[in-house]
Amino acid sequence: MDLKQYITIVPDWPKPGIKFKDITTLMDNGEAYKYATDQMVEYAREKQIDVVVGPEARGFIIGCPVAYALGVGFAPVRKEGKLPRETIKVQYGLEYGSDVLTLHKDAIKPGQRVLITDDLLATGGTIEATIKLVEELGGVVAGIAFLIELSYLDGRSKLNDYDILTLMKY
Ligand code: 5GP
Repeated sequence: MDLKQYITIVPDWPKPGIKFKDITTLMDNGEAYKYATDQMVEYAREKQIDVVVGPEARGFIIGCPVAYALGVGFAPVRKEGKLPRETIKVQYGLEYGSDVLTLHKDAIKPGQRVLITDDLLATGGTIEATIKLVEELGGVVAGIAFLIELSYLDGRSKLNDYDILTLMKY
């Protein structure tokens, strides 16, 4: 299946000059959403995944159906102040300024094999921060799966030590 036909490119959103890849037109098509999920599940099956981890909010949309199909849990990575119990946190750089991502301290046990999911790899900052959280808890990042990779931003160069699946490249 050619998944790109389900992605809507929205010019000048959220800022002038940005061509936003809108995945909602893929998510609302049952066949396309299932196909994309199945590709990730197939990728993850060989990796003996114990838990799926994804950053808010689109990492949930991608990761939860994969976790369900694998029969494993899902741990959410969220912005500071959103998770109710004890968390670890990491600061990461944005285009202007920085932000903080958090993960519950007991979300991953040392040695557990983790699949990280998100909708899109741009500069790689979000996923780099997510990896730090997982590794701080002793998790092993066994694979990282994205719907989309923006190859021209070269986020992959931040992830040299990891196994990556991307279903579409721009
Ligand atoms: P990075 O941290 O790799 O620079 O940016 C990736 C994050 O920004 C992802 O969590 C993703 O949801 C969001 N993002 C950046 N650009 C786009 C885009 O064009 N489309 C979508 N759907 N998400 C984007």
